[in-house]
Amino acid sequence: MAVSDYEPVIGLEVHAQLLTKSKLFCPCATSFGGEPNTQVCPTCLGLPGALPALNRAAVEMAVKAGKALGCEVQERSVWSRKNYFYPDSPKGYQISQYELPICKGGFVPVLEHDGSVREVALERIHLEEDAGKSVHADDGSEVDLNRSSVPLIEIVGKPDLRSADEASEYLKSLRLVLLYLGINDGNLEEGSFRCDANVSIRKRGAEKLGTRVELKNINSFRFIRQAIDLEIARQAQLLDAGSPVRMETRLFDHEKNETRAMRSKEEANDYRYFPEPDLPPLQLTAAFVQGVRVPPLPHERYAALLAAGVSQADARTIVNDVRLVALHAKVTAIAGAESGKRVAHLIVGDVLRLINDGRLDLESPKFTPDQIIEVFKLQDAGAISSTAAREVLAEVLASGAPPAQVVQDKGLAQVSDTSALEAVVDAILARSPGEVDKYRAGKKSLLGFFVGAAMKELKGKGNPGLLNALMRKRLGD
Ligand code: ADP
Ligand code: MG
Ligand code: ZN
Repeated sequence: MAVSDYEPVIGLEVHAQLLTKSKLFCPCATSFGGEPNTQVCPTCLGLPGALPALNRAAVEMAVKAGKALGCEVQERSVWSRKNYFYPDSPKGYQISQYELPICKGGFVPVLEHDGSVREVALERIHLEEDAGKSVHADDGSEVDLNRSSVPLIEIVGKPDLRSADEASEYLKSLRLVLLYLGINDGNLEEGSFRCDANVSIRKRGAEKLGTRVELKNINSFRFIRQAIDLEIARQAQLLDAGSPVRMETRLFDHEKNETRAMRSKEEANDYRYFPEPDLPPLQLTAAFVQGVRVPPLPHERYAALLAAGVSQADARTIVNDVRLVALHAKVTAIAGAESGKRVAHLIVGDVLRLINDGRLDLESPKFTPDQIIEVFKLQDAGAISSTAAREVLAEVLASGAPPAQVVQDKGLAQVSDTSALEAVVDAILARSPGEVDKYRAGKKSLLGFFVGAAMKELKGKGNPGLLNALMRKRLGD
């Protein structure tokens, strides 16, 4: 049979590191990149007798994710120990949630190419602590426990995805939602957003799910598609040859472009989950859950941008970049909702170009959204032309100088002074009596010639509307 005779079934498990300052059960710092084993204490080192104390901020973030993703947030959830031996897990178990997770159900909203929203169902979201990291060198391996006990949420998707592309779109959408919520930094390479892909295939039309394989070590969107497609092909080949697919965990190797068996997949009962005796069940009040606020999500921002008249392409560019969407929101909050389209146009044009050229850093303290609004105001008041506005904005955004100052320094002020413009108009008309006669005889297309000449005289800084009006008036229209 061909690969196309099988239907792929994919379910993703995502581990997202929560952006708390301290760890899940101790006050140690969570920052990335510190000297190995400098962000540790008896609790996250797993020393006997050290007791965990729950971090409230992590719970808030998990609830935020649950509310944003339409889960049923549980007022009561329970901590479990997941037992396994691994050098980077000194306690010999991981504190997680098993039977009673903090969030059940829910879905990831995926904004499709046609602008519709597809909801991909979730099993659950639970809180757990991360393990440390083994660092392998030529002469052996070392363990860094800075990451030990850093808070994670695991977002478990239902096996509802049907292709590598769907899986990758789902993953992108989920990542973006977490970025919008400000609870995860979305960094696949550094491992703060990690994905395991469960893949099985079944004959098209079959009801029963096939045996799944869990793929690990997928740290880019390209790799997720590659790894899943490789696995689909491998399983199809096995089934074609009449061999069963083994339930196992496989590692994706992007250099060799292959997956290889890592270990046979543990069943849940191998972990001997049992209730964590050092932590009481997590009991939330309804008021706590209610008090957690969820900002507008990507698909909601997208709809709002379209409603403001922004094109689909521009809206997508903006919502896919959390910095741009925040900038748009900030500027329109000051300039008014009716400026939505204009601001969007500016962002996908000039602002994005400046960012890509490395001339603008939206995070820099030199930058404020007011700078954009100031330039708009100068343009609206006729103080600068639209061409000059772009130049001023580029300079303002790149240097942080006040817009009025830039206009002056660069000599970009637009001439809107009627008497100054009239003087130029008169000079131009006096210079070309022949054309003036032709114009008055009906050759109206000469207006452009006169205005162009005047603009040249004014070095491009004449207020075009005013110049046009004055010219026609002097010509007797
Ligand atoms: P575990 O915790 O052992 O990995 P779960 O039952 O929680 O097992 O399932 C984990 C993931 O595997 C979920 O994302 C789910 O959607 C996916 N999954 C389950 N069965 C299949 C299957 N037959 N094919 C593909 N994915 C599956
Ligand atoms: Mg799993
Ligand atoms: Zn600690």
